[in-house]
Amino acid sequence: MYMVWKKALAERRLLLGVLAGLSLMLAVCFMEAGELHAESTTDVENGPKILVLNYHKIDEAFHPLSVSPALFDEQMRFLKEQGYHTISPQDLQAALEGEDRLPSNPVLITFDDGYADNYANAYPILKQYDMKATIFVVAGFVGKSERYLTWEQLREMEQNGITIESHTMNHIPLEELTDEQIRTELRDSKQLLEEHLGHPIQYIAYPTGTYNLHIAALAKEAGYEAAYTIKYGNVDLGSNLYALERTPVFHTENTMQSFYERLRYRPLFEEFGWRKR
Ligand SMILES: [Zn+2]
Repeated sequence: MYMVWKKALAERRLLLGVLAGLSLMLAVCFMEAGELHAESTTDVENGPKILVLNYHKIDEAFHPLSVSPALFDEQMRFLKEQGYHTISPQDLQAALEGEDRLPSNPVLITFDDGYADNYANAYPILKQYDMKATIFVVAGFVGKSERYLTWEQLREMEQNGITIESHTMNHIPLEELTDEQIRTELRDSKQLLEEHLGHPIQYIAYPTGTYNLHIAALAKEAGYEAAYTIKYGNVDLGSNLYALERTPVFHTENTMQSFYERLRYRPLFEEFGWRKR
């Protein structure tokens, strides 16, 4: 497996995007050194590194936010074969608060926005591999057009390992809003989702990932237990519960290779500048 990737890597041209480009540099650099230091995903101070993946669309569109169904299938199979175990946001919170232990190689798979293709294309694959995932839906968009998931689809998925949480009411970057507007976005989306789904909504992903400590405090005040950003990195005991890190999965020239590198070299990403705090 490794040799195949190594060969593919050597043939690769420059990748689009800063992150993907840097992953290539790191990979080449460490391959030339003839030794790999990226196997360990634990550090003494902050405990195990927990991988949180962030997807948006699973479709054939040639767009950075789209990953094709075939590649998504390949990525899920890869995680399964590598011994990753999917967890829920509740599992992650319990572990960070010291109340429970996670399985070995935990991964939280998340989707943002609540696109209809998550049901049509990602959900069957997740079911096939018996994997859990979490979708942060824009509550005000549910059932409003063909692009977005319906309440019925959300309820069906929740019966089969998918957790639905909030991505606010209207997907406006919260830093652009007044405190009152932020409170409304946080509260109304929580209430609407709770009314339709019949359970507490405990988690939120900030639209476009933008947040600050004040917004984090408002999320806590609105009753959320934790919040997810698009800050690149792994979650560990040093993470802020209201600013949890994620690893984005984008469409690139070779998405599967980029995915593989991000997983394999993820401790290095942190070492080379994606530090928390
Ligand atoms: Zn979003």
